[in-house]
Amino acid sequence: MIFLDCPAYLDRDGTRRCGLPAEVEDKYTMSSTDGPVDCARISCPAGHRFNAPVECLELPAPAPLLPLPETSRRAS
Ligand SMILES: [Zn+2]
Repeated sequence: MIFLDCPAYLDRDGTRRCGLPAEVEDKYTMSSTDGPVDCARISCPAGHRFNAPVECLELPAPAPLLPLPETSRRAS
């Protein structure tokens, strides 16, 4: 069983995503002018359902963790 993070938006601003594990119910390939496209049908526990190209369903990777600035270190 494969899961994707649910890409559903939870607000109008598009800043919060559902993110629950959405089960991939079906995976198929669709032909397009740019060649074959991997598509999937997913549903998450909150009831969101999508049927779209996989690249549209994957959430962007979270921003990398930045090192703490110097000023936050304890003076020794
Ligand atoms: Zn969801």
